Amino acid sequence: MINDPCLDCGTPTLGVMTMADGSTLGIGMNRLSFDDGWRCGECAGYECDGCGKNIYLDEDINIVNANGYNDKYHYDCLTPELKLIAIEQGEIDE
Ligand SMILES: [Zn+2]
Ligand SMILES: [Zn+2]
Repeated sequence: MINDPCLDCGTPTLGVMTMADGSTLGIGMNRLSFDDGWRCGECAGYECDGCGKNIYLDEDINIVNANGYNDKYHYDCLTPELKLIAIEQGEIDE
């Protein structure tokens, strides 16, 4: 059965839903397509500039640093200073 395993961790990125009439339907779960296949939401995410672990897709907090580059953090990895900057930049609510 093809479940489009994640290129990095092997987690299936295609779920199967059983319909009322007993037929099955493949549904894509949080995933991103790459040239060579699929990656799950976690592996497709960015690396956190705080802890170095991957951030789940769409859960990254982007902060423009002093050099003009985007730093990405888990919400939980934001220091109080970074939180203030994130609020200022409209990334998170207070
Ligand atoms: Zn993965
Ligand atoms: Zn982190």
